[in-house]
Amino acid sequence: MPRKRSNRLSASLGAFVEELAHVLGEQANQAVARHTRAYDTVVNELRAELRRLEKRIERVSAARAGRPARDARRCKVEGCFQPHVARGFCKNHYQQTRYREKKIADARAAGKRYTAPKPGERRPGRKPKVPLPF
Ligand SMILES: [Zn+2]
Repeated sequence: MPRKRSNRLSASLGAFVEELAHVLGEQANQAVARHTRAYDTVVNELRAELRRLEKRIERVSAARAGRPARDARRCKVEGCFQPHVARGFCKNHYQQTRYREKKIADARAAGKRYTAPKPGERRPGRKPKVPLPF
């Protein structure tokens, strides 16, 4: 059978528990406030970054206005309607241009002339798969 506590002990224990609850509540409030400030800082930084990126998108969009979209560009060789890849050419005509430039450079380095077909010429018996770029 539990002993009956004295009123004085109960009173001081009650005061202690009340004080403890008060202190813990204060500390919890301070911790929440600290974390809320840190959270607000991060949110504000992200909002600023988002505004910067939105402005950048606007600038790029304005700069691109009036130009055909990258996907809409076509090869500059007459009769070729392949999508653009580099230097105004489609993948095939770009590779042909690079190959020809390499042949010319190699021949020059060897002190020779490049004697392969001139641009636009077809080798006898060979029909190019795509129109020549020159
Ligand atoms: Zn082409």
